[in-house]
Parts: sequence; structure tokens; C-alpha cells
Amino acid sequence: MKRGKKLYEGKAKIIYSTNSKNLAIQYFKDDATAFNNQKKSKIDGKGVLNNRISEHILENLNQIGIKTHLVKRLNMREQVIKLVEIIPIEFIIRNIASGSIIKRLGIEEGTVLKSPLIEYCLKNDKLGDPLIAEEHIYTFDWATKKEIEKVKKMIFRINDFMIGMFRGVGIKLVDFKLEFGRIKVNGKKEIILADEISPDTCRLWDALTEKKLDKDRFRKNLGGLIPAYTEVAKKLGILHEQSNIDSANITNLSTFKRKNKK
Ligand code: 5GP
Repeated sequence: MKRGKKLYEGKAKIIYSTNSKNLAIQYFKDDATAFNNQKKSKIDGKGVLNNRISEHILENLNQIGIKTHLVKRLNMREQVIKLVEIIPIEFIIRNIASGSIIKRLGIEEGTVLKSPLIEYCLKNDKLGDPLIAEEHIYTFDWATKKEIEKVKKMIFRINDFMIGMFRGVGIKLVDFKLEFGRIKVNGKKEIILADEISPDTCRLWDALTEKKLDKDRFRKNLGGLIPAYTEVAKKLGILHEQSNIDSANITNLSTFKRKNKK
């Protein structure tokens, strides 16, 4: 698979064209941003971990019948994905109150919601991804009612699966963000899961200690982001407990990869 021109660069990933018109390469960067780009940093090895964790989760989702854009992981930082027409909405799923909802509504952090809550944000960095109502989606034709019904069904299935998967390894799935896109299959439009699912896009707490194992370590200046993401990868069985892949090794491997690509 040949990497072509850059199609899109986001905060944490770059999408490149390939020699196949329906496929793209998704490259995971080490860049970390928060608060609508006001806080920025580079965290060596983050992209490598997110690539592996996202691959693992999307492959598992595929096995329970959720169609995703992932074709295969290429190397430490890249995946081959199906090119989709992205639905310009960030779908936020909350099981436990944390983050923006506690500030917005004055809910106590850690409150277990009586059922999963879906919130919608417009994918627009300039506007700071504003929260919108479902009705906005139809008024401005960002997606159809049929598409959103389908997306909601997929979301609840994904959430059920992910809660169980993380609970089984001693992690609480607090909340997460999903993105969906359209592809054409035999002339018919289909909705598939796109983007990534990783500690960058989820809130994950250790089930016993409630230690944060996600991007809040960066947002809240807690430090130890790479050890936390590595712990998630190890618990999911992606990195072996006894393996020596620690943050230093991940950094070396990722640097090696970058140098050798030039
Ligand atoms: P909140 O609305 O509380 O800031 O975020 C809710 C959940 O969605 C968190 O798990 C957060 O990581 C994820 N999320 C929301 N917006 C974004 C975004 O623009 N980028 C990333 N990486 N995650 C997001």
C-alpha cells in the first residue's frame, strides 16, 4: 500500500490518500491538545499506544457485528482505513458524570447515571465543538433521522460491549466519544464507525482506586500519561505484563520508525 498525499490533518491524526480510491492511511501523532487547542504538547509514544489500543477495540467490535472503517494496522503508527464521508457530529456517551457535564450541569463527579446518556457536539474546532440538540442535526441536514436511529443502536451496542470489556480487566468506562461515517456498498449508503477509540477519546478509571488512565492526565496536569496508557494496553492483553515495552522502549521504537520512513 503506497502512502499518497495528505488529505486531512487533525489534532492527533493525519489521513493520507493511497493508491486505492476507497482506502486511506490513518497516522497516529504524538500531539496532545486540550481545551480547544489552548493546551498543546507532544508526548513521545502516545500515537503508538493509541494505534494499538484502537486497533484492538475496533477489531473486537467488528467481531460482534459493528462495521468499522478499520481494514488493518500497517505498523506502529499507521492503519489502513476505509475512506468515509464523515458525519460532522461528535457522539458523546456517558455512563458516569465527569468532564464537561459536571461543569455545565453542576452534577457531582463520579455520579453513576441511571442509564447511558448520549450527547451531540458539532465537529467544528473554530466553534469549540459546541453541544447541540438532536433537532439541530435534522434542521441543518447534518444527518437524517434514519441515520441517527441507526447510529444510536450502534452506540448502545458499542457501549454495552465496551463496559463489559473494560470491567473484565478492572477498568470503569466513564465516558467516550465516537464518530461515524458513510460509505457506499453496492450503490447503497451504509453507516460505519470511524475515527479511533483510545484513552485519548475515553475516560477510563481504575475500578478499585479510580485512578485516571486517560487523557485527563494531560488535561489536568497529572503527569504519567504514557504509564497510564501502557497500563490500559497491558490490562487489555495488547502488551504482555512481563514484556519490557515501557515508555522508553515505545519512544525508541516510534523514533526508529519515523527515521526509517524518511
Ligand atoms: P467532555 O465533554 O466531558 O469534555 O468529553 C466527554 C468524552 O468525550 C471524554 O471521554 C473525552 O475524552 C471525549 N471527547 C470529547 N470531545 C473530544 C475531542 O474533541 N477529542 C477527543 N480526543 N476526545 C473528545
